[in-house]
Amino acid sequence: MRYLCIGECMVEMAPQADPGSYRMGYAGDTLNTAWYLRQLMPDARVGYLTAVGQDAVSDAMLAFLAGAGIDTAHVQRRGDRTVGLYLIQLTGAERSFAYWRGQSAARTLAQDAGVLDAALTGADVAYLSGITLAILADADRARLLDRLGAWRAGGGRVVFDPNLRPRLWDDTATMCRAVMQAAAVSDTVLPSYDDEAAWFGDTDPAATAARYAAADVTEVVVKNGDGPMLALCDGTTVTVTPPPVARVVDTTAAGDSFNAGYMAARAGGADPAAALAAGAALAGRVIGTRGALLHLDG
Ligand code: ADP
Repeated sequence: MRYLCIGECMVEMAPQADPGSYRMGYAGDTLNTAWYLRQLMPDARVGYLTAVGQDAVSDAMLAFLAGAGIDTAHVQRRGDRTVGLYLIQLTGAERSFAYWRGQSAARTLAQDAGVLDAALTGADVAYLSGITLAILADADRARLLDRLGAWRAGGGRVVFDPNLRPRLWDDTATMCRAVMQAAAVSDTVLPSYDDEAAWFGDTDPAATAARYAAADVTEVVVKNGDGPMLALCDGTTVTVTPPPVARVVDTTAAGDSFNAGYMAARAGGADPAAALAAGAALAGRVIGTRGALLHLDG
């Protein structure tokens, strides 16, 4: 199995016990999923399609990706840009995030149809999110969806997490339109119910699943925090409640890790109910620990 995850990896600055001290790391929604896919599927190839700069911090990010076993052959290098950054701020136990990503190199990841085609040609499954779409200029977003659609017509599978982030978009109507355009070229869509309810007005997870199914998505998986998750697969619905997590420490990457757990289980032959349980088991581990990227054997 060859996966191609498409999106933005950012530098993360995480506060340490010593006031004013931060630890530098790397994260980003699609990267987090790539990280977990890599660990769950040692025999798979997991590549990342993005763009970075040509400076030292971009070199360091590439070294990090390669060190995690992620194939960087399709990372584009830009001389006039660098990678995006975010800072985690702690107010008591409450985490908030400040972002510097408006001019990040990743925003240029879909400027060249030839690069997209070359990367997709070597993959069986492409994975992207609503954040991937949000950071692209309109023409680039259209190009990415067009090339995904063409590749899919030749047998590729597209997996999409809408990951709705209104602040990254000019307006929510554009966000919702782009998300449904991406769904139209996707085989599997993995939305989170609370976001979908807020921006699409869905009244329950079944309504979210039905809306994507009506857009011809054959497999819809609706995440729902600690509530029952739902998979609508080829017309059949199954519901699984995540096992309780004794102590939720940090919900960062809950959905991203869930997606990897679900995808890996499905690739291994699990039915949707078993794959929901596998996704929830991984997400439960991740939210019981601080940080987005956990070493699963550590
Ligand atoms: P996102 O992080 O994308 O908003 P959710 O909050 O719906 O997604 O969480 C994704 C998955 O993580 C859930 O389907 C569930 O398996 C797990 N999860 C999240 N929060 C909890 C929780 N409080 N207790 C147990 N599992 C949780």
